[in-house]
Amino acid sequence: MNFADTELVLGILKQQGYSLTKEIDEADVILLNTCSIRDNAEQKIYARLVHLKGIKRNHPGTVIGILGCMAERLRKNLIEEEKIVDLVVGPDEYRRLPEFIDSAFAGGKGISVKLSRTETYDDIIPYREEGLNAWISVMRGCDKFCTYCVVPFTRGRERSRLLESIVSEIKCLSAKGFKEVTLLGQNVNSYLDGNRDFADLLAACSSIDPQMRIRFTTSHPQDLSDKLLYTIAEHPNLCNSIHLPVQSGSNRILELMNRTYSVEHYLTIIDKARKIIPGISFSTDIIAGFPTETEEDHKMTLDVMKKVRYDGAFMFKYSPRQGTKAFSMTDDVPEEIKAKRLNDIIELQQSVSYELNQTLTGTEEIILVEGLSKKSEDFLFGRTGTNKIVIFPRSNNLSAGDYVKVKINRSTSATLFGDFVELVNPANQDIARTA
Ligand code: SAM
Ligand code: SF4
Repeated sequence: MNFADTELVLGILKQQGYSLTKEIDEADVILLNTCSIRDNAEQKIYARLVHLKGIKRNHPGTVIGILGCMAERLRKNLIEEEKIVDLVVGPDEYRRLPEFIDSAFAGGKGISVKLSRTETYDDIIPYREEGLNAWISVMRGCDKFCTYCVVPFTRGRERSRLLESIVSEIKCLSAKGFKEVTLLGQNVNSYLDGNRDFADLLAACSSIDPQMRIRFTTSHPQDLSDKLLYTIAEHPNLCNSIHLPVQSGSNRILELMNRTYSVEHYLTIIDKARKIIPGISFSTDIIAGFPTETEEDHKMTLDVMKKVRYDGAFMFKYSPRQGTKAFSMTDDVPEEIKAKRLNDIIELQQSVSYELNQTLTGTEEIILVEGLSKKSEDFLFGRTGTNKIVIFPRSNNLSAGDYVKVKINRSTSATLFGDFVELVNPANQDIARTA
């Protein structure tokens, strides 16, 4: 999401005549787009600011700004405590950035962190480097107020972009040769433009260019509708993977988190999705060590992971965030227990991912080639519709953007390896499904 917001900010600044430099010493303006979701994300930014002090010392005229969630959360403190920061601009105020940069050049300091109920930046064309994959925010903010989460406070209330503006953005991307878009929102399932819901949006996006894969993230289990599942099943270029954060396997903890679903309901959705979309894969987010979490609650989390068998997971230790409801609960799970539980969760996930990947040996997968493997120029890499990375020997007649069939011959928990079978004509194949 921050990637997408950075492209938006670049779009706004480009219109004013700014351009990008890859050399930090050449920059007149340095903007850090920040995340507040966990404390360690914020600590990284403080470390960056220490590094930028040297740059400001050598080039005192350089404007330094903090954008995004930390700007929203820490506001005046950032300007007062971090002397090198000239401007602090929250996620709904990016249109005003040029104005703030001008005043910073004139020696002023500025803060603009008002949250909006309507800003969606619908008319701003994000600046994107040439590429194959694009991120598109289809909605902003979140109304869910999970008790541990700072997002509703830093990014404001939920609002959706107009369906037509998203469709026209994808048309432009398709004309430029992009092959994959990921529709983004904190809870894409509550997308609503008039009476058009997220399933309608997906259907509209999928029909723009049948050669383009469409992904989306994140889905909240409470709002995942049958209509959405049938829509994915019907459209061959909608990727058959859903990121469906469970957070915990204990109903007591889910209630304390205000997640508004039970484990039983969650498992029913998984079963239903697997019936409607054969071969669908799931990934998830899990928090270890939420306040009052017992060993028994933790075992329930491991249990739900064993039942669902996720292809992948983002796994975190609980991090208390000021201003959230959970912040007033005692953070009573000791650090070493949190670390041990997180470790159990990671180990289990790695072994499940490994086992699932082994079952793919001998199968043929359709891959979108993305480029040379990072480890060796003798290999190419791409992704399956379920978002698994596949590495296979390079062949001169293949290039980034091609769809190819690859026969899998081995795998680790994170990567599949295989041999090239044939080039695929995306018009005749389910490019987001297994071959
Ligand atoms: N909106 C998405 C959802 O609810 O599924 C996720 C958004 S959040 C940016 C990504 C993940 O960060 C969450 O799913 C949660 O697992 C994790 N997270 C959020 N707040 C956290 C906190 N205070 N401590 C640890 N992890 C947290
Ligand atoms: Fe945070 Fe919950 Fe909203 Fe996700 S749904 S962004 S975890 S409040």
